[in-house]
This record gives sequence, C-alpha cells and structure tokens, in this order.
Amino acid sequence: MHITVIGGGLVGVTTAWYLLDGGHSVTLVDRAEELASEASHANGAMLHASHAEPWNTPRAIGQFLRWIGREDSPLLLRPREIPRLAGWGLGFLRYSRARHHARNTAVNARLAVYSLALMRELEQQVAIDYTQRHQGILKIFRSAEELETARADSALMATAAGVRHEALGPEQVVEREPALAGIESDLSGGFYYPDDASGDARLFCQRLGTLAAERGLDLRLGESVRQLNRHDGRIRSIETDTGTIEADVFVLATGAEAPHLASQAGVRLPIRPVKGYSATLPVAGLAGAPRLPIIDDGRKVVITRLGDQLRIAGTAEFAGYDKSVRPNRVETVLRQGLANFPALAAEVDTATADRWACLRPMTMDGPPILGESGIPGLYLNTGAGHLGWTFAAGAGRLVADMISGQVPAIDTTGLTLDRYG
Ligand SMILES: Cc1cc2nc3c(=O)[nH]c(=O)nc-3n(C[C@H](O)[C@H](O)[C@H](O)COP(=O)(O)OP(=O)(O)OC[C@H]3O[C@@H](n4cnc5c(N)ncnc54)[C@H](O)[C@@H]3O)c2cc1C
Repeated sequence: MHITVIGGGLVGVTTAWYLLDGGHSVTLVDRAEELASEASHANGAMLHASHAEPWNTPRAIGQFLRWIGREDSPLLLRPREIPRLAGWGLGFLRYSRARHHARNTAVNARLAVYSLALMRELEQQVAIDYTQRHQGILKIFRSAEELETARADSALMATAAGVRHEALGPEQVVEREPALAGIESDLSGGFYYPDDASGDARLFCQRLGTLAAERGLDLRLGESVRQLNRHDGRIRSIETDTGTIEADVFVLATGAEAPHLASQAGVRLPIRPVKGYSATLPVAGLAGAPRLPIIDDGRKVVITRLGDQLRIAGTAEFAGYDKSVRPNRVETVLRQGLANFPALAAEVDTATADRWACLRPMTMDGPPILGESGIPGLYLNTGAGHLGWTFAAGAGRLVADMISGQVPAIDTTGLTLDRYG
C-alpha cells in the first residue's frame, strides 16, 4: 500500500519507520523544514514507563483548582481558556475518578513498557546515537503523602505491566545520585525505576528520519497540509500548500494540532494543547551536575543529563495554541530544577540556557488515540500528552500493525478512539 503520514514529530517518524518494515511505500509530510520542530524538539528527554499516570489524578484536581491563575504554579489555567476547555475539562474531571485513573494508568504503563522494549530492539538493529542512557530514573519526594501515593501507583504499574521499582530512603536517594546531597534533609524518600531510560528526542527523531529516508521514505518537509479530501466516504487524497498527495491510507500524527485536520473529516478528537517549558544548560566539567535522570514530583519538574548538557523541563499551561516562551514561566522551571542541586546552582551560568516551550497533545482521559478514525482511509496516532517520547516506538508500531492487518503485540483496549463511545 501507499501510506502518507502527516506530521514529522516522534510519533509520525516512528509510524513511518514501522510502516516501512511492513513493506509499504511511505510518504511523510511536515510543514516544518526539519523533523522534530515542535513538541518533540526539546522535551524532558525521559523514557519513563514509571511515569504512566494520567495527570488528572483524584488528588490533583483539588490542587489544580487552587493553582488557577497563579503564574508560579506547576499548572497554570489562563482564565480566558476556561470556555474553550468546557467539554474537555468536564471529561478531564470525570476521568479523574479513582477507578478510571487506575485503569488508564495501567493502559499507559502497558504501552510504555512495550515501547521501551522496542527502543532497545531498535538500538540493536540500527546504529543510532541520541545520547541515550539506559540507567534508570529516580523519582524524589519531599512530602510523605506524595511518597505514599507514588508507592500505590508504582505497585499498580508493577502489577499491570511489570514496571520494576525500588523504594529508597533519603540516604539511599543520595547514594544513587550524590548531586542531591544538598537537599537530603528535605526528602521523605524516593523510588528508583531501573528499566527507564533517557535520550534526546530531537536527535532520535531526526536520525531515525534520515535512516528511514535511506530505506525509501519519501520525506516532504516544508509542506503544510491544508485539507483532507473525502470521496465516496473515504479519504483518498490531501491538499498541501504545494499540491495534492494521493494514498491508500493517511495517518494523522500532527500532535496537538490533530483536532483541526480531523474535524474536516468529521472526527472529533478530545485533545487540548498543554504548554510545557524546558531550559537546556551546558554543564560540562561542573561537579555538582547530576548524572541520573530525576523526576521531582512535588515541583513537577524533570531533570535529565544529555551528554554535556542538563535539560530541566516541566509545567503545564492551558493557554490555547500559544507557543511563546514566557520568561517568568521558564525561569520558574529553571529555578525549581536547580533548587535540587545547590552546588550546581552556585556555579552554573543560567544566562547560557536554551529556553523553549511547546504544546503537549493531551487527551481528556490520559492514554493516546491510536488506530482507526471511523473514516475509511484515515488512521490516528496522536494524543500522547506528557508521554509522547516514551510511547513513540510502541504507538508507531501498533498503528503500523493495525494498518497492515497484523495482530498488535499488546492489548489495545483503552487506546483507540472508540473508547469514548
Ligand atoms: C516541556 C515538555 C516536556 C516533555 N517531556 C517528556 C518526557 O520527558 N518524556 C515523554 O515521554 N514525553 C515528554 N513530553 C511529551 C512529548 O514531547 C510529546 O508527547 C511528543 O513530542 C508528541 O509527539 P508528536 O509527534 O505527537 O507531536 P509533535 O512533535 O508536535 O509533531 C507534530 C508534527 O506535525 C506537524 N504538523 C502539524 N500540523 C501540520 C500540518 N497541517 N501539515 C503538516 N505538518 C503539520 C508539526 O510541524 C510537527 O512536526 C514533553 C513535552 C513537553 C512540551
């Protein structure tokens, strides 16, 4: 078959990769001049099955409400966004009930574990350097209550999907990552997840795209898709700003923007953009910089070493499709991240940090939306939210298998559009 993937972020590129494995002729089209120019560009760099919980935890809803309009909070809901969030927001609240949340955590964990196994398989098959490290991830906690919630979530992910974890006291946290020594007395404990990994998503996406092009992928960059054309009930072609592309099947992988093109085909996707920020600092030769990727649960920031650089990422901002880098928000992320490493904070020059912001494609219940759209000829691979790097290989492979008529390797219940009824 000839298949066109729309969108050249992590999800589009992995889908194209696995479609090539299936023997298809594949075109990938993206409006940007290079792959990974949007959410996949400078994310938190964590491949974390351990972080599979959807954000609408039963406990978090109260926190969210307290944070409305507060510029320095980990989650910022701009009041003008409230009307646009109406339907999605109610779904977000509904799915925060404990039983929904537990089910969706298990669905995400299953996909994440599958995906991380595929990443290892891929690294065996092709030489691809994306500053990856398979050394696990550390989650740290100050509040005893948050530590207990994480204990329950970790037990659930272990049972549902085999995510291994090790509980640590403050002293053991510092043994694992000595750069945290300066805050040992503030910590209630932590968890270490040995199977998690990290790596630069942009490098991965661009390098896998190059390898895919060598295998025959028709890569059309700098071309924006304007229109999905439907004939006799089926999507048979798309209009871009430079012409028409025909194909047997199209895969919509346009991240946070997926609802726009989907709505042209009459498909409603319960996805909203949730802005996040990152700052990337050069830390070569700085003794106080951590080596292990760290999730600071209370402050809602992640800290990842990428070669000679340190990436600090986080926050959730409901601000529509605005991708601007707001200085106060990114400074908060930077400050919160560095507060964990007083020695590093004293020696690093934050003026040299690369500051970035982009939009996570967030579904109202948490898991992504994979597979058939209900319209013949159109498949979906979007809505990965805060887990799109973790899910990329697994989601790409599942959608490619569905298109090829292969039985997916994992149960896809809870991952397809029909779950919304
Ligand atoms: C601050 C931050 C930190 C994060 N940290 C992590 C993390 O540590 N671990 C993790 O697993 N996930 C993380 N994520 C989430 C992850 O980065 C995203 O879920 C993932 O990048 C989404 O990939 P995507 O391919 O769906 O979307 P994108 O990367 O946004 O790709 C969509 C592509 O579609 C293209 N496009 C859109 N419209 C059109 C059109 N009309 N025509 C042609 N092309 C179009 C765009 O140019 C873009 O290239 C983070 C996200 C953010 C913002």
